[in-house]
Parts: sequence; C-alpha cells; structure tokens
Amino acid sequence: MPLQILEAKLAAQLKALPKDSQRQFLSLYNKSPGKLPFSTIFKTNALPCGSDSPVGAVYPTICLINHSCVPNSHNNWNDNLEHETIHAIRPIEAGEEITIPYDKGGCTCLGCSLPPPELDDSDARRLQIQLLDAAIGDPYRIMSEPREVLRDCYSMLQNLNEEFGGYIGILGARLYYDAFQISIAHGDQARASVFAKRAYESRVLCEGEDSPEAQRVRSLAMKPARHMSFELASRQWRRSKDMVPKSLDTESFEKWLFKLDLPRDLR
Ligand SMILES: [Zn+2]
Repeated sequence: MPLQILEAKLAAQLKALPKDSQRQFLSLYNKSPGKLPFSTIFKTNALPCGSDSPVGAVYPTICLINHSCVPNSHNNWNDNLEHETIHAIRPIEAGEEITIPYDKGGCTCLGCSLPPPELDDSDARRLQIQLLDAAIGDPYRIMSEPREVLRDCYSMLQNLNEEFGGYIGILGARLYYDAFQISIAHGDQARASVFAKRAYESRVLCEGEDSPEAQRVRSLAMKPARHMSFELASRQWRRSKDMVPKSLDTESFEKWLFKLDLPRDLR
C-alpha cells in the first residue's frame, strides 16, 4: 500500500480511538520521522499477524519489546484467541530485558556484539542452520534419501542447541515437525509419534498450550497415521506406534530416533 494511502487510513482509524490509545500510538518509536508520521510509526512497529500473514498489527506494549538474535521470548499471533502472545522460552532473570526476534541480524544486540572469534563461530552455525534447513525441506530428498535427511535433522538439532544454549525455540519445534513428516511419509508411526510429541513440547514453550498449532501437533503425536502424508513416499520404515524402544539410555535412544549407525535389528 502506498504510504500516502496508509497515512490517510491510519489517521481515520486513530481519530476513532480514545485519546489514551492515540497518545500510546504516537509515543511509539519512529525510525524515519517526517511528513507521514502515522505510517512511519506503523512501519517501524507493526508485527505480522501470523508468520506469513500480509496483515500487521501495532500493540501498545508488545511493540516496546526490543529485538535480539538470541531472544529470551517468542511472539506469536494466536488465531483462536485473536491475540499476539509473548512467552518466555528460557529462564529470564529479574531485571533482564525481554527480547523477541524480528530483525535479520547485523544489529547491536547481545548476540551480535560477541567478541570476533565467537561471532565468527555463531555466523558459521547460522549459515549451517540455513543450509540444513533448505536441505531438510527438499521434497525430492525426503522421498529418495530419507535417512540422510533425518541425519541432517540431527545435525541441525546439534547446531540449534549450540547456537541457542540449549533453548531451541520455534526453530526446534519446526525441526521436530520436519522429522515427524519424514518418518510418517515412510510409514514409521513410532518415530513419528516421538517427533510430534517433541514438536508439541517446543511449540507449547513458544506459543502456549492454547496455540492452535500446538494442539494440532499434539493430536498427531497420539494418532500419527492421521497425517495426510502417511506412507505417501514408501512403506519401507513401517513401524506401529507402540514400537518405540523402552529400555535404551538417552544416547542410544537418540541414535535410534535419528537412525544413526545402529545394529540392523534396531533400525
Ligand atoms: Zn543481533
């Protein structure tokens, strides 16, 4: 929308608001103050209502939260509640600033002001995370070399854990959901249910128990075969939901889950 038109629309909407709300809006930060104050305040502060939504909204309090590349909180548009929600994704100390991710880096946040060697390591991990993310999302590979894709999921998880100090956040929720999809496409309901459960747990941490996506993934953890891509690629990993091994230690269980160098009978 051209700024002039946005400016006129916002002016009309602001006029209809109580004086207090008008003042709150006008007190928000403006990155490029000038002749079009309403639209530039809006552009500076608006958050999308949903990850791919073309609709954005401005909130009197949430818009005061600063960006960090290593955020301690997650913001999400909850379609059921019709609210933007903020959840802590790791413990926050008293007096510590609440942060969410919305910039693309190159900023002055804690993550970007690391000393150079650590910053290089962090940049390398972020690049690796991007590359793995693209490799994992390749539908052709999911059909033809699912084991390698699952291995990539495992590497991605290691990178996320290192980069975010064990708090893998929404990227972790998406990653576990990817692993769920790979497993269910090849008929493995056992791994699929474990991955869906983990995707659910990470989702709840970021978006709360009442998040529609969290509830959807929770029901898939209980009935993975209900997913539309069940056995769509092959039946070569066929396993029922109750075939999750029960007596493995943590390390062996992770190896089983991601199909990493295991004796044949456990694969
Ligand atoms: Zn940063």
